[in-house]
Amino acid sequence: MKGDLIVVSGAGGFIGGHLVAELVRKGFCVRGADIKPLNEWYQVHRKAENFAGPLNGDCRDFRTCRTLCKDALEVYQLAADMGGMGFIENNKALCMLSVLTNTHMILAAQEAGVDRFFYASSACVYNADKQRDPNVTALKEADAYPALPEDGYGWEKLFSERMCRHFREDFGLNARIARFHNVYGPHGTWEGGREKAPAAICRKVIAAVVTGKHDIEIWGDGTQTRSFMYIDDCLKGIQAIAHSNILEPINLGSSELVSINQLVDIAQDLAGIKLDRRYKLDAPRGVAGRNSDNTKIREHLGWAPDTRLREGMEKTYRWIYDEFTTKYDAKTAGAQLASPCSHGSGPIPGNGFNAESRHMDTWRQGMPATYGRPEAPAKKRPRAKSSGQEDRQEVYQEREAACLASPVIAHQGPFK
Ligand code: NAD
Repeated sequence: MKGDLIVVSGAGGFIGGHLVAELVRKGFCVRGADIKPLNEWYQVHRKAENFAGPLNGDCRDFRTCRTLCKDALEVYQLAADMGGMGFIENNKALCMLSVLTNTHMILAAQEAGVDRFFYASSACVYNADKQRDPNVTALKEADAYPALPEDGYGWEKLFSERMCRHFREDFGLNARIARFHNVYGPHGTWEGGREKAPAAICRKVIAAVVTGKHDIEIWGDGTQTRSFMYIDDCLKGIQAIAHSNILEPINLGSSELVSINQLVDIAQDLAGIKLDRRYKLDAPRGVAGRNSDNTKIREHLGWAPDTRLREGMEKTYRWIYDEFTTKYDAKTAGAQLASPCSHGSGPIPGNGFNAESRHMDTWRQGMPATYGRPEAPAKKRPRAKSSGQEDRQEVYQEREAACLASPVIAHQGPFK
């Protein structure tokens, strides 16, 4: 029976874990799902019904979404394959695949006749042209169009925003959309390649404390600016937006703008040390500057973040410190001084703009010289035999060689 059941997808993640905690605390029946096995969830709430792991909690699977959404009053769709800049700049295909999760969750929610569908979008939908200067003008909701979002992750978010809109307009689904700007706090990713700047910086500073090696690697030149919203403020904003009558996507973020250098100042102050800074200029660094214009959310919902960055960072630092020192000691902590740059297309040269994103501007910038030339006739390839790894290996190698030989198919880097 439809009562007060609330579904949270991505419940094993950072924001999802906190949201389930809050809803359980308020006395709702909560059903959480995450593709990660339960022992990898940041928070497990025994009072909630937990669908965990690839078999029961993968929201790319429509059957799972149907099971989850059955009898639900509200659905909070937070599941996404995502991470900080190091992850999203190097794993664009994976980020885009979250479109399966969003599509199936929205379909299942519509079918179940839910009262509310909340979608977690991102500031990565905003037009890159408006974010080229560290001295930013804060981003207004209208700045998402004309569209030039973060390649991969941002495009997927923008597409899914529009899907929510059309489900609302065509099928009457009560969809609400928040554009989160960098959320941080305890019980989130702090190592492994998906962590975002506040957690990564806390970890590196803690590694410096533990190893006694007082230097820090910073991605970019440290002048890039951002705002960071503490998780408690985010939770209040989610609830307010979900139950509002605001139909368009709306910013949910802090407007306290800091440079990455200033964020490092805060973390090293909390640790009581001073670090030598090494700037890794070829690491992913995202746009040059981004801030949230909170005019609309302030006017319509009276929401403004309560937590100052220093206060939130202190809580985050303490939590990561405990996690870190439980796992590492002075001998093993060294590797945590730097951040891994996840696999994929490799680090991107940094001037505050992701050069690889220019792929999508091919038509605007003019045709690459190689376009329009007649293609070499395709070679007849041997059919893969049904057995034998060596045979398959040969076919793969030949396909790879054919791809590399063809300038149009071998779309590996920016056009020269
Ligand atoms: P997170 O990575 O901690 O949580 C996302 C969770 O989704 C993960 O636990 C992951 O395992 C799960 N997931 C991924 N694919 C899934 C699938 N197919 N089925 C079920 N679960 C799946 O990230 P978060 O910070 O908690 O972010 C939550 C949402 O908010 C995401 O949609 C994210 O894009 C959005 N967002 C977050 C931020 C931020 O700063 N944290 C900023 C903008 C937008």
